[in-house]
Order: sequence, then C-alpha cells, then structure tokens
Amino acid sequence: MIDLSQLDEDQRVAATAPRGPVCILAGAGTGKTRTITYRIAHLIDNGFVGQHRVLAVTFTSRAAGEMRDRLTRMGIGAVQARTFHAAALRQLRYFWPQVAGDLPWRLIDNKFPLVGRAARSVGLPTTKDSVRDLLGEIEWAKASLITADGYAGSVDKHRRTPPADAAKVAEVYRRYEQAKTTPEGMLLDFDDLLLHVAGALENAPGVAEEFRQQYRSFVVDEYQDITPLQQRVLEAWLGERDDLTVVGDANQTIYSFTGATPDYLLGFSRTYENATVVKLQRDYRSTPQVTQLANTVISKATGRVAGTRLELTGMRPAGPEPTFRSFPDEPTEAREVAGEILSLLNKGVPASEIAVLYRINAQSQAFEQALADAGISYQVRGGEGFFHRPEIRDALAELTKASRRDDLPPDPVAITKAALAPLGLTTTEPEGAQARERWQSLRAFVDLVTEIAQSKPGIDLPGVIANLRQRAEAKQPPTLQSVTLASLHAAKGLEWDAVFLVGLVENTLPISHAIKAGDAQIEEERRLFYVGVTRAREHLVCSWSLARQEGGRATRSRTRFLDGIAPELDAPKSTKATGRPKRCKVCDTPLSSPAEKVLGRHESCPPGAEQEVFESLRSWRAGIAKEEGIPAYMVFSDATLMAVAETLPENEAELLSISGIGPIKVERYGADLLGALHLHR
Ligand code: ATP
Ligand code: MG
Repeated sequence: MIDLSQLDEDQRVAATAPRGPVCILAGAGTGKTRTITYRIAHLIDNGFVGQHRVLAVTFTSRAAGEMRDRLTRMGIGAVQARTFHAAALRQLRYFWPQVAGDLPWRLIDNKFPLVGRAARSVGLPTTKDSVRDLLGEIEWAKASLITADGYAGSVDKHRRTPPADAAKVAEVYRRYEQAKTTPEGMLLDFDDLLLHVAGALENAPGVAEEFRQQYRSFVVDEYQDITPLQQRVLEAWLGERDDLTVVGDANQTIYSFTGATPDYLLGFSRTYENATVVKLQRDYRSTPQVTQLANTVISKATGRVAGTRLELTGMRPAGPEPTFRSFPDEPTEAREVAGEILSLLNKGVPASEIAVLYRINAQSQAFEQALADAGISYQVRGGEGFFHRPEIRDALAELTKASRRDDLPPDPVAITKAALAPLGLTTTEPEGAQARERWQSLRAFVDLVTEIAQSKPGIDLPGVIANLRQRAEAKQPPTLQSVTLASLHAAKGLEWDAVFLVGLVENTLPISHAIKAGDAQIEEERRLFYVGVTRAREHLVCSWSLARQEGGRATRSRTRFLDGIAPELDAPKSTKATGRPKRCKVCDTPLSSPAEKVLGRHESCPPGAEQEVFESLRSWRAGIAKEEGIPAYMVFSDATLMAVAETLPENEAELLSISGIGPIKVERYGADLLGALHLHR
C-alpha cells in the first residue's frame, strides 16, 4: 500500500481523487511531482488501472528521467514516463506499417541543410543565424498547428515578428515541407512525429482502438508548457475518455516563444466540467522570506495569466531576508557576487548548492571570470562556457589573424571591434534571436578586451591575446562540487540553497526585444524573474549594476520588476567588502594592476596597521591551507580575513559575529586564529 501520510491534505485530495479528470494548479516547490507519482500509485493500488496502462508525459528528458526514478522507487516502474516526442516516436514506429504500408521513413537528424536550401531558393540570406531563425519560426508554426498557407495570416494574430518578409518565410516553410518527400521515402522532423501520431489516431479507427486498449490513464507534468500540437496528440490519445491528470503553474509559463500556452491548463475545468481541481500552495522548497518575495513579484503581474495567482506559503523554517544590491559596474558586481559565494562556502554551504542565474548567456562572462579569479570552480548549465562558444572561438581566431598584420592602429580595442565586424558585431543590436545572441556574446568579448586594455595601459594586441588565452585556460574542469551558472530558462524546475539573480537591469530583464514587443512579452519576462526567485531554498541575492564597464558611465537602470519591491539603492563607491578595493587604502588614488587590487594598496604605499594584520592573517591562512591540502578560500575568504583584521575579535563569541564565520569554522580554526591575532598584537 502507498503511504499517503507523505502527502499534505491538498496533495492527498489530488492523489486520491476518483478516476477521471484532475487538474492540479500548483506553484513552484509545492510537491507537484510528488503528488502525481502518488496519484499514479493510488490508481494502480486501487485496481483502477494496471501499471502498463499508464502513460506519464513531460517536456524534457531530464524531467522524464526523474519521474521514472520516483516511480521505480515506489515499486511501479512499469509505468511509462516519457517526453511527448519519445512517446510519439515509439508509437509511430509501431503503427507506421498499418497507416503507411511499406513506405520508408526516417527521422531527420539535421534540418539545417534543408531549410538552408529552401531559404536560398526564395532568395533569403543563408547565414547560420538567419537559417536558424527561419528554422525556429517553422518550428513555432508547426507547434502552433499553423500551416505554410496559414502562416502569413497568423503573424499579426499571434503578434509574431517574422525573421523575414512573412510571405517569404511561408514560402521557405512550404518548400521545406515539400523537400521532405524524397524518392527514397519520407523524412520526418520531430513535429511530424506528433502530427502523424495524431493523424493516425484520428483517421485510422483500427489504430486508435488498439492504442486505447493499451493506454487508459494519462498524466501530464508542467502542463502550462504544452503546445497546440502536443495538445492535439493528447486528445487523440484520450479519444472519448477523460482519465487525465494534469499539473502546472501558469505563473511559470516562460516558453511562449516556442508556441507553448497555458490556455489548456487554465481552461481545464471548462473542458472537463466534472474535473477535480486542486490548488497546492504550500511551498516545501523555500523559506517564508523567499516565498514572500515571490508572491510580491507575481502580484504585480497583469494580463491573462494574472488572475490565476497562487499565494505560496513557505513551509521551511525562517531564513535570511532576500537582499538587493546595486553596483557601479558589472565587473564589480561579479567580484562582489564571487566574494559572497566565498563567504557562503566558508559557512559550509556546498558549492553544488549555489547558483548564479542570468537572463542571457552573454552575461556569464563577467561571472565566469570573477569565479575563476576567486578560485571557485563552476559549471555553465544549458550552454557552453564563454570561451567555448563558437562565436568566441571565432573571435579569438580573427584577432590572432589580425595580429599578424603590420598596418594596425595601436589601440587593441579598436582593432578588436574592426576584426569582429565580419562576425556580426554591428553597431546596433540586430533583429533575429540567433543573431542577437551572437552579437551579445561578441559585445561581451569587446568589453573584456576593453577591461584588459584599461587595466594594463599600453598593452599591445599580442599582449591582449595572450591574456585572453590565459583566461580561457584558467577555467578549471567542472567538478561535482562546483557552483552552477545558468540562464533563467535553463534553471526551470531546479533548486539550490543559495541563488544569485544577477544583472537585473532594464533591457536585459525585461530584455530589449520584449520591451519593443509590448505588454504580453514583458509579462513573460516577469514570470521569468518569478521562476528565478522561486529557485532559492534559503539565500537569495538580487543584484544589478549601473554601468557595463569598470569606471564606465551609469547608463543602466534597475529592472522595473523591482519597483515598489526593493528600496532604491545607490551603488556603493568602492568594492572594499571583497578585499579588492579599486582605490588605494593608503593614498586613496586608483589602483591598476590586479596584484595591487588584491593587496588593496600600491606596493609602494606603506601598509596601515589593519592592512598589516590582514597580510599576516593571509600568511597564517596559507599555512593552514597547505597543512590541510585545501584551497585557501576554503579556510577563510579574503573578505572574512579583512573583517577579522578590522574588528580584531578577542574571543569566539566575537569571531562568530563576523559575517562568513559560523560555528563549524570557529570549532576548526577559532583557537588557532585567535592565537595568530594575539601573536600579532
Ligand atoms: P517544481 O516547481 O520545481 O516542479 P514541484 O512542485 O514538482 O517543484 P516536488 O519536486 O514534488 O515539487 O517537491 C519539492 C520538494 O518538496 C521536494 O524536495 C519534495 O520532496 C518536498 N515535498 C513535497 N511535498 C512534501 C510534503 N508533503 N512534505 C514534505 N516535503 C514535501
Ligand atoms: Mg516538478
């Protein structure tokens, strides 16, 4: 028997509802996956359905895998848990001979050349970026059940911005579809799989009957992410039956651009008048402090989804208040975040429980750099690390090529900009998702070159290139014990003890093209922010910076999504807290070399008393780190040592009051550290 005591009251109502339609409207971390697995177990336990007759679908293989694990642990591993595509592929393989006889077919592994050829034939550009954008648009249309003939007429209705003239896009779509019928047989893309499955079940009664004998009961997770095409497949699976459990959170709809829509979730009780509808609002993931912020963020939503708000109640014990930090520029923001991560590591938070989340992949560069500088190992999730991206490799290659010429201007930044122009670095942001992403990366690359040039006045191009290569190599291979960097989209469904939401500025979140496109797009960006906030179990830090580059003009403003939520803050002038002030502590003039920045003063300026203590603590720390065979930051971070040097604690209680020092650290190093301080006095 399944142990229903593992569920709360509301979860239990959903899990034990009579066979038939059930809709679970559940916020983040409320135990959706737990509840649906128990529901499946309950249906099986009570003899409503056999294990082999249940099909549970999700949208990513990761989610399907997680569901399979949970089902296996409950002893019902024979339940099918798959993505829509994997389920459709299996079914089509089985049914194909019945509907198409011996007509051969094959799954296309790469649509790119087909779309490229179609684009060329209608006279559209065939650069990688433009073909990818066309491909994305065709995928959207197919997921939305819009044919090539219907495409041009749908653009306005769906407020799409086509990647090229709509009639031409439609023509590319048409030719792409035609090109898939070849003398050797049919080529099918992933969307065709779904279309053919739906078609077979709708039109071939024998096929439908056989299938419906096989599967009786259906469960869909993350139902807010379903596309019209997937919904059509689901309806074909069901036929006249209504044994369907769906679970979703309309406030986490962040994939509208692929055609996903929460309409079916929100309309479920209208479609199935006898449906059991359950709301889960107890959040088992986050502290009440995090949950409170999430509720406030989403309470400002407007538009269609806004009426379906769920008030989350945090079930975990109280934790720290989320914090909001404003910084003068992005490198400073990144260094400060790295500093705070160090102090979390010092407090014993595992690296794998810490994440830095951002809106676009190009933002990762500054944070990768700061983490590497601080000796913190990290992995980039759902994307490649900055120096591994194709456009950045190309950029480095172009720059290397340029460095062989002898007619170059002296300024490495100017050379870089010129060298990157053919790769897509235009003066203004281009249209088209792919081109935009590439452009953003290239711009981050120029920023990096600018930063290097500023910190080493007089550096020449080969010097810059050597520096860039060093940075590219400095990235340690990811280990299990590493901090996660991820875009908000890639963070969906995941959770960490500590989350840093960074780069929260207008034109990044919401992203500039969403601002141009209007309210509906801006609301999707707000939901993206909400997804970010709800990833945190305990620690949540929201930050932004007012300039891109160190010492740059403050041209940015904080995201509108924090209006009325976080106090307006002035960016602090220095970055003292990480032990990396930009100005000399002794003479208060700017510092330039990285070594000086770490030291906090010019090497020629005499250390003050505090500085002297700090430096002797650093050598004390180096000794301990060596003895224990661990990196120095795992003993104490620079910021913590600086705080010790500033406050000169005399006993363990005073040590404990310093940020970055917890009971475990005191137990391990307290006596030793106090001893070192005493010696110094
Ligand atoms: P997401 O929004 O990320 O998809 P979810 O709603 O699917 O989350 P689950 O992953 O099922 O949530 O649960 C979140 C966490 O809360 C898990 O660690 C789960 O074990 C725990 N949890 C769920 N229900 C309960 C409960 N009734 N009592 C204690 N813990 C629970
Ligand atoms: Mg889940």
